[in-house]
Amino acid sequence: MTAAEPTFRQSVELMFNRAAALMELPPGLEEKIRVCNSTYVVRFGVRLRGEVRTFTGYRSVHSEHMEPVKGGIRYAANVNQDEVEALASLMTFKCALVEAPFGGSKGGLCIDPRQYEEHELEQITRRFAYELIKRDLINPSQNVPAPDMGTGEKEMAIMADQYARMNTTDINARACVTGKPPNAGGIQGRVEATGRGVQYALQEFFRYPEDVAKAGLDGSLDGKRVIVQGLGNVGYHAALFLSTEDGCKITHVIERDGALTNPEGLDIALVRDWIAHHGGVRGCPHGHYIEEGLKVLEEDCDILIPAAIEGVINMGNAERVKAPLIIEAANGPVTAGADEILRHKGTVIIPDLYANAGGVTVSYFEWVKNLSHIRFGRMQRRQEEARHELIVNELERLSKDKELGWSLSPNFKEKYLKGAGELELVRSGLDDTMRGAYQSMREVWHSRNDVTDLRTAGFLVSISRVASSYQAKGL
Ligand code: NAD
Repeated sequence: MTAAEPTFRQSVELMFNRAAALMELPPGLEEKIRVCNSTYVVRFGVRLRGEVRTFTGYRSVHSEHMEPVKGGIRYAANVNQDEVEALASLMTFKCALVEAPFGGSKGGLCIDPRQYEEHELEQITRRFAYELIKRDLINPSQNVPAPDMGTGEKEMAIMADQYARMNTTDINARACVTGKPPNAGGIQGRVEATGRGVQYALQEFFRYPEDVAKAGLDGSLDGKRVIVQGLGNVGYHAALFLSTEDGCKITHVIERDGALTNPEGLDIALVRDWIAHHGGVRGCPHGHYIEEGLKVLEEDCDILIPAAIEGVINMGNAERVKAPLIIEAANGPVTAGADEILRHKGTVIIPDLYANAGGVTVSYFEWVKNLSHIRFGRMQRRQEEARHELIVNELERLSKDKELGWSLSPNFKEKYLKGAGELELVRSGLDDTMRGAYQSMREVWHSRNDVTDLRTAGFLVSISRVASSYQAKGL
């Protein structure tokens, strides 16, 4: 990065400011919405390997215009206050854009999880959760974490268990975190939700030929050449679904230790499996290895999906990034400086506050499920199937009439009879949310001459929703 590059938090603020400058907010409200309300820093000790190790963690609350506040907890060695506050602020605008009724929050722990054994991570996670729970920074009605980089179902299950141990009479204890495994109060489809959301976002974008044309592309997702950076939870699922369901070719995968390429398209499941066993892409026989991974961000492609960390497309490389369409699966992968360069080049960016909102959307469904204490679809599934059966029986009766001369298509009966279970409902809710949020952004994008990009459009929609919430209830 060059010296002039703003920090992650400054970058988000600059993007916010660009949109706020186009709005007429009451005096002072802009500042209130921009700033982060509070950040709690905790340092705690854990006895490990014969010594006491001290860890530093954060939980930041950006906006409490709606409660609980929501946002993931990240485990990474370089977690810091600036980053956590930037991520918390993105959560506020993300939730507003997809109409998830939450304020924005985010947490982090300075730790490289790969350096610890499973039982050690459990000990550390329990201790961190204890510090947050006793200050109501994990609480079903006030602050509900979720997974982020370096954390997953396991950490969420431990945090939920720790909360339940400390709040034995709270009947809603399970709603204190989302992203739990299905057998511990989680919901079907949460693990892949963010990647699935990236896929739905692209599908929606490609439904509008005039939007696709703005990126200098045409046609559908079928055959599009895609570069993915980061084959973790988000990147893996996005790449898997796009390649196996939409016909995209994943020509490059960039990981920490380099990149893998295959112009005919990489087999994502095989690459992921290799990474799981070898810790990186080096030596992987399923593609050609390139040592300098970051350079691959500049390769020719139709769609670039940064799905690893923030700041990877910056003032140092933006000019050389060739992708006409970038979808920000990670949070903050494009800095404010790079955003400006890319906008001038005509690159279309589907921004993080929309693109990776699938995670919080399905987290919202999980939270509602936990509070209602019943699985989605449990009441209506069989009733739905019975009603469908009536129609199918009638159609079958008619199809036996030789004079009418028609018959049911193969598999119709099987497909039509199947009532929606939890997974189908989650997918339908997620798809609907991603379509609705895109439409609200594109309406602003196309209707205002002073809005030339989707990010500013997204911020405009979100800020006005947050502002009306503050105006309705006072500060
Ligand atoms: P993860 O830990 O599962 O995966 C991250 C992947 O990126 C790993 O494979 C890692 O090896 C790789 N990586 C890390 N640094 C890299 C680098 N410098 N170059 C190339 N690859 C690198 O994390 P995740 O949950 O998939 O999160 C990825 C991004 O998506 C983050 O920005 C996160 O905030 C965002 N996000 C995640 C979720 C979620 O539900 N998990 C939701 C919204 C946004």
